[in-house]
Amino acid sequence: MIVVGGGPAGLNAALVLGRCRRNVLLFDEGKPRNAVSHALHGFLSRDGIPPAQLRAIAREQLAAYPSVGIDEDRVVDAARMDKGFSITTRDGRIFFTRKLLLAAGVVDKLPQQPGFRELYGVGLFHCPYCDGWEMRDQPLAVYGRGDDKGGGLALEMTHWSRDTVLCTDGPSQLSIDCRRRLDKYGIVIREEKIVRLEISSSVPYHAAFDIVFETGPRLRRSAIFFNTGRHQATDLAARLGCDMYDPKGCKVDDDYQMTNVPGLYVAGDASRDVLQVIVAAAEGAQAAIGINNALLREDLV
Ligand SMILES: Cc1cc2nc3c(=O)[nH]c(=O)nc-3n(C[C@H](O)[C@H](O)[C@H](O)COP(=O)(O)OP(=O)(O)OC[C@H]3O[C@@H](n4cnc5c(N)ncnc54)[C@H](O)[C@@H]3O)c2cc1C
Repeated sequence: MIVVGGGPAGLNAALVLGRCRRNVLLFDEGKPRNAVSHALHGFLSRDGIPPAQLRAIAREQLAAYPSVGIDEDRVVDAARMDKGFSITTRDGRIFFTRKLLLAAGVVDKLPQQPGFRELYGVGLFHCPYCDGWEMRDQPLAVYGRGDDKGGGLALEMTHWSRDTVLCTDGPSQLSIDCRRRLDKYGIVIREEKIVRLEISSSVPYHAAFDIVFETGPRLRRSAIFFNTGRHQATDLAARLGCDMYDPKGCKVDDDYQMTNVPGLYVAGDASRDVLQVIVAAAEGAQAAIGINNALLREDLV
């Protein structure tokens, strides 16, 4: 069995498969989506733990299962074969597997202006469920355009803070109805182009920075929530012919994270919403059980 990706989805799948006495080789090049995050929230019994610590504990516990191995190389190619798949690593090694689990995650697209990357995970967040509580009642900005990614997110954030400004970095593309709702909840819209973020303090959850616009006064905020999209961390699923919801996620069944490609499973952020660590881990377990069941069905004739 090969698992591509050693975040919560891949690690939990490897754990369950190891306990099923399956030979597992997990590839992980070690660039998880939440690498910039200081604290993981919303995972029972682990609320506030550094994400790297969660992964370290998971790897330590996997060491008890001798049939599970971890390889730090990147998988660069995958192909369908008669009875499974071949995968190729960056250093040119080729492996064969009957079932393949992709748990490679996604990569968020960040605004490109100076300051955004430096603030990512400190005062720039994409998910109110992950970091909204820590930023409650603080002066917030939402970065995004249109009724959904801009207006919708700004309205959502009023639940965490009533001091929310929507920054659209150019024409807002908001409908009249959405503008009316934003107005009703006291959300100011700033449509000027953003030049940079000027950061005066970058302590996680206590950042202080100014949003500097091409025109108009600068705006002091403690955090920005944004939704500018994401893409798959690898194109392996697409190359294998996996149906996609859109570029964001791979289509899987409800029970075992199975794709339309026989023997191919996708779990974690690379599949569907909801994109959270506890959900990714659960999907890894679902995929592992699906894979073990499928192998049992094939072998117990
Ligand atoms: C700033 C930030 C804060 C967040 N905070 C929270 C939070 O508080 N609570 C919460 O529940 N969620 C949080 N999340 C979301 C969380 O990070 C994801 O839901 C979770 O990491 C998804 O797990 P995953 O296993 O699907 O993918 P990932 O954790 O992204 O792991 C995928 C792994 O696969 C590896 N990989 C990718 N391609 C290849 C390849 N071709 N070959 C080998 N390895 C590969 C990557 O390097 C990576 O190590 C946060 C996200 C961000 C960006």
